[in-house]
Amino acid sequence: MITDTHAHVFWKDFDGDREAVLARARAEGVERMIIVGTTPETSRQCFELCDGQPGLYPTAGVHPHDAEGLSAGILDEIEELCRRPDCVAVGETGLDYFKEYSPARDQRRGFRWHLELARELDKPVIVHCRDANQDTLELLREVPGVRGVMHCYSMGADELAPYLELGMHISFSGSVTYPRNEDNREAARRVPADRILVETDCPFLAPQGKRGKRNEPAYVKLTLEHIAAERETSADEFARQTSLNAARLFGLDGAATD
Ligand SMILES: [Zn+2]
Repeated sequence: MITDTHAHVFWKDFDGDREAVLARARAEGVERMIIVGTTPETSRQCFELCDGQPGLYPTAGVHPHDAEGLSAGILDEIEELCRRPDCVAVGETGLDYFKEYSPARDQRRGFRWHLELARELDKPVIVHCRDANQDTLELLREVPGVRGVMHCYSMGADELAPYLELGMHISFSGSVTYPRNEDNREAARRVPADRILVETDCPFLAPQGKRGKRNEPAYVKLTLEHIAAERETSADEFARQTSLNAARLFGLDGAATD
């Protein structure tokens, strides 16, 4: 079994063939997908999509791109969704100083709010970090006791240690397969076996071989095979390990039975 720990299957890119996309994923062994919300509206869509679908698990949060002027009403909506028993994580949240679509100050405020909610609810947090390493670490340290995942980890091996010390899981997307990302591959070789996850972040970041196309959960298999080879383990064993890690982190049913 393969687990895609970060998929935005609610995206409009999938409106024409969403059921076929999910069927293709399952045919490739991708039996579990975490469907990650980025705004109140898309978070609600995640819950609707996952309702009654075995192996699909929703989250709720506000992406740093959408963190500008977060109102009490928006935060209330996110909190209400996060409190639902079927919600497996808080986020996506985090910091993105590369694009900086929202002011950095608003991003930090939003991130901190999600961290505190995750701690209160004892649910993992899904963290997006781009060009914001120092502030991300600082905020994670300000809210100790939070567990979660550095999603689409895009940094190198040198930046790994503090996140591992904080207890975070590290998830790799298709970008780990790109020829120029050797630093990121080195990180993927070094993450301890019980802390590593794989994801698509679809519809973005299709792995090498599918680059330039819309990404979809079925393609997480290519990323998984690539990292397994880098780590000198079999794809089957790496699929088993990363699915077990995901099941433990997100509290997915049947974790022990595989
Ligand atoms: Zn995302």
